[in-house]
Order: sequence, then structure tokens, then C-alpha cells
Amino acid sequence: MNAPHRSAGAAIEIRKASKRYGAFTALKDIDLHIRPGEFMTLLGPSGSGKTTTLNLIAGFTDISAGTLEIGGKSVTGLPSHKRNIGVVFQHYALFPHMTVGRNVAYPLALRGIKGEDREKRVKRALDMVRMADFAHRYPAELSGGQQQRVALARALVFDPPLLLMDEPLGALDKKLREWLQLEIKRIHRELGTTFVYVTHDQEEALVLSDRIAVFNGGRIEQIGTGRELYDKPATLFVGRFIGESTVLRGTAEISGNDTVMTIGGQRVIAHGRLPGDARPVILLRPERVALKQPGTVAAAGENRLSGTIAEAIYLGSGSKYEVRLSDGTVAVVRSPLGAVDFAIGDAVDIAFTAADLILLPDDASAD
Ligand code: ATP
Repeated sequence: MNAPHRSAGAAIEIRKASKRYGAFTALKDIDLHIRPGEFMTLLGPSGSGKTTTLNLIAGFTDISAGTLEIGGKSVTGLPSHKRNIGVVFQHYALFPHMTVGRNVAYPLALRGIKGEDREKRVKRALDMVRMADFAHRYPAELSGGQQQRVALARALVFDPPLLLMDEPLGALDKKLREWLQLEIKRIHRELGTTFVYVTHDQEEALVLSDRIAVFNGGRIEQIGTGRELYDKPATLFVGRFIGESTVLRGTAEISGNDTVMTIGGQRVIAHGRLPGDARPVILLRPERVALKQPGTVAAAGENRLSGTIAEAIYLGSGSKYEVRLSDGTVAVVRSPLGAVDFAIGDAVDIAFTAADLILLPDDASAD
């Protein structure tokens, strides 16, 4: 296989950008800085503004307010075809009447690249997506995953500094999706191109990204690595959108530097306090909670809430439980392999320290 061609990735700088469609505001004041060569994923529920952001970068739609720079230059007013960006959509959009080879050659033909140089670049791009043996086939003779690999080759064949992808794996089955995620990750690593990737699938975002921007209702809630978003969500929305979680609500009072929550008559101590008069909630990650026999002595600093096992699922790598707490909340708990087994109906305590919980302001939009 030919050595991949490394291109310098372009930085993207979006400042105070808004997008309105008539009276409707699809994006409100977003700030997004993407580093050269970074894999940035735009993650969020349907209608949150991810595609609108991608379309602004691509030049498929105009910004209503704010600024947008690609590679250090303002692109306001620059038409899409002059931005030198590769784009891959969910639906492959290959030209059906052209072979794979001609599809991939098309962006080069547009740029006046001919002859042997064109052939070499097409071959290199098809090698990169492992589709070199299919150059003479037509799109209709390929599977969905193969078509998407060809679309990726076509988007990268002219060595763009920036590749935009909008749910490129959305139409594929889970297994193929997981395999192609790793292929896309490998290609990103080989090329050094900046990738901006839209998905509503948080697992996909975690697998692929250097950083993730979490969208909600036309705003960006938080930008960070997967680990930062999981361990230190800035908002309840982010905490609930990334990974599994349980939200505990109760009455709160401040005691020194601690927030003391009373939940179903039992006290939980959280270190720290929220600024302002925000109503605190506690977010628990399933693997940071342990199950204990009720009546056993709590260790120092251990919070306990009593409940009953409502569901017990054996996962091979451990077990997952749903525990109905005395206030009716259902807490999700993951026990590692070798932990004591519990059965549906067993009375248990869930146990966690202040370091295991995340204290956040309540937010109705997270439910
Ligand atoms: P999805 O995952 O469903 O694609 P998304 O996060 O990509 O969602 P966008 O496509 O960016 O969301 O849309 C954001 C909002 O803007 C939505 O409420 C959508 O209905 C609205 N919107 C998008 N395009 C237009 C348009 N051309 N005219 C009016 N409203 C639009």
C-alpha cells in the first residue's frame, strides 16, 4: 500500500455564531474552536443544531451573526466549492452512473488534475479505505458500508485540510458501524486532516473523538474530551447524555463547605456547594456505586440509601442492577465480576462516597 499523504489540518474558529430561519433560532451564540488535525464530534439530540453548524462550516448555509474562520481566514461569503473541504453525508450520494474509480476521480477532474497523477491519487485513496479491488464496480453493486468507504475516498482524494461528516454511519447496522468507526479513526490518524463529525450516538462520539461538543437546543453545553464529559459534566444535560446515570433529587441544605441532601428521609453528604441559588441534584455513575447488605456498618465517609433490587442482569463481565430507592427513584448499579450476587426483591443499600458523586444544578431540559 502507498504511504498515506499527510496534509496539514485546518483550524476552525467560530465566535458568537447564530443561525436564524425566519423567526426560529437554530443556533444561539455558539463558540467553537477546533484545533488543526483534531477529531471533533458534534453530539446532541435531534434538532439541537449539529447539522446547522456543519452546514455553516461547509458553506451550505450562511451565518446570521458572528464570525467563522477556517485555517485562520474568514470564510464569510466564500461559496462552498471554494472552501476546499471534503464532505461525507449519511446517504452516500455517489454518482450512480459512474464506476467507483470515476466517482473518486471526480473531485480531481474538477480541479484539473489529469493523467497519471490522477490515477495515482485515486489508487491511493481507494487503498486507504481498502476498496482498490472495487474500482470498476458501480455503486449499485456495492453494500452500504462499501459505498460509504468510497464516499470517504472521494471526500479525501484531493487532500483537503478539513473533512466534514454528517452521520456517515447512521444507515448501517451496528457491527458494520463499529468496524467502520475504527477505520475512520485509523484514517484520521494517518492523514492529520481536521475531522468534524456529527452524530447523536454518544458511544460513537466516545470511540472516535479527540474532543466532543455537546449540543442542546441550539447551544453548546460543554466541549471536552470524553473523559472530561463523563467525569466532570458541566451540566445535568451533559451528565445524562454521556453514559449511564442516576439522578437523585431531594431537599438540600448547606453545612460548611458541604451540601447535605435529604433523599427519602436519608442524608447524603456532597462536598462543595453550587454557586448562586441553583437547586442541587446528585448524579451517580453506575460503576461508582456499590451494593451492601442493609444493616451493615457504613465505612467512614460512605453515603447509604436503602432500596430493593428491581432488576438483576448478568452481563458476563459483571452484573447490572436496578435498585428502587425508598423515594421511588430507580438507581442503576454495575457490580464487577466476583461481587456478591443479589436477586430481585432483595433489600439492599446503595453505597457511595462524596468523591463518587457529581453535584450539579437541576435542569428540567435534561429529563
Ligand atoms: P438531527 O440529528 O435531527 O439532524 P441536528 O442537531 O442536526 O438534528 P439541525 O438540523 O441543525 O439539528 O436543526 C436545528 C433546528 O433548526 C431544528 O429545529 C430544525 O428543525 C431547524 N432547521 C434546520 N434547517 C432549517 C430550515 N432550512 N428552515 C427552518 N428550520 C430549520
